[in-house]
Amino acid sequence: MTTKSFHPPQRILLGPGPSDVSARVLAAMARPTIGHLDPAFVAMMDELKTLLRYAFRTENELTMPVSAPGSAGMETCFVNLVEPGDKVIVCQNGVFGGRMRENVERCGGVAVMVQDDWGRAVDPNKLEDALKANRDARLVAFVQAETSTGAVSDARRLVEVAHRYDCLAIVDAVTSLGGSPLEVDGWGIDAVYSGTQKCLSCTPGLAPVSFGARARDRIKGRKAPVQSWFLDLNLVTGYWGGTSRRTYHHTAPINALYGLHEALVMLQEEGLENAWSRHRRNHLALRAGLESMGLRFVVPEEERLPQLNAIRVPEGVDDAAVRGALLKDYGLEIGAGLGAMAGQVWRIGLMGYASNARNVLCALAALDDVLGRLGAPIERGVAVHAAQRTLTA
Ligand SMILES: *Cc1c(COP(=O)(O)O)cnc(C)c1O
Repeated sequence: MTTKSFHPPQRILLGPGPSDVSARVLAAMARPTIGHLDPAFVAMMDELKTLLRYAFRTENELTMPVSAPGSAGMETCFVNLVEPGDKVIVCQNGVFGGRMRENVERCGGVAVMVQDDWGRAVDPNKLEDALKANRDARLVAFVQAETSTGAVSDARRLVEVAHRYDCLAIVDAVTSLGGSPLEVDGWGIDAVYSGTQKCLSCTPGLAPVSFGARARDRIKGRKAPVQSWFLDLNLVTGYWGGTSRRTYHHTAPINALYGLHEALVMLQEEGLENAWSRHRRNHLALRAGLESMGLRFVVPEEERLPQLNAIRVPEGVDDAAVRGALLKDYGLEIGAGLGAMAGQVWRIGLMGYASNARNVLCALAALDDVLGRLGAPIERGVAVHAAQRTLTA
């Protein structure tokens, strides 16, 4: 028997990523593959860097997509900035802060953890206490948008505290980029990484990063070489950097980069601030619908991410059965709880291209049906109307 071509089913991706990819981005990725040192490709790379600077709100020269998923963006920041023996204050309020610790320790650094409750923002006062107690710390790292819980932290304040104690700040902006306010230059962020499959609505597998002048100086002044050959920025920038001649480092994922270029062109056409307000508007409509059904959010209102809505699984309801029915009957994917929140929450993403009124109404109608059928204690038949009222207000 011969294996046939793979045709994925049609889905609506309302989980924690990947999010729906638009037909425009998919079409861009199907264009002819050319050489990665072809002058036409090099010109596209330059546009891509300019577009990423727009999305990050930065003038940083060292702004580019790493050829690997968001996790490799994280690793790029840590392997380049952490030297053996360096003390790093890591703020943790969910799953991804824990991965930062792993990164620090594997680089030979010493991670000092500042723990906050899962489902809450990082507390800047706790960070300050840790910096007072660890005057020799060289870096602060935190996640702006914790996708595991749906909480957003005050990145501007946290960076400001880090700088007061002469620390550089590494910020995880995987879920925030393109979905909610992020000002790399305005807030003085030293190193930031993101991913393409969340609010940029591109296919997974690329990690936009940006490094400011202080971070670049720190990397230049390293005593030990970067332990990772592939992620060593001194080498990568020979390919992505400056306007001078590019040298081969690795073969860029050509067609994936066409997709990112198109996704960023779409972001620019819409306008970054308009994209932020669209995410907020659709979040508010979803919230109105969910709350009218009697479902409860995990995160307090003022710390909620618009692009990731974490809600509690109602008492006595089978988490997996609900997600299974949503996928089977409606082609709709929502996220399960991660880490300590497994089985207790659902994570409904409204990210990028998927953040639209149609998806909000569809998700609410589907939840109303599935939860109703499974006998969940919800108010039926009200959610769609509640969301519509918000959308047309
Ligand atoms: C998704 C995510 C990552 C990891 O990105 P991958 O593309 O899955 O490697 C890192 N941090 C946060 C906050 C995320 O949401």
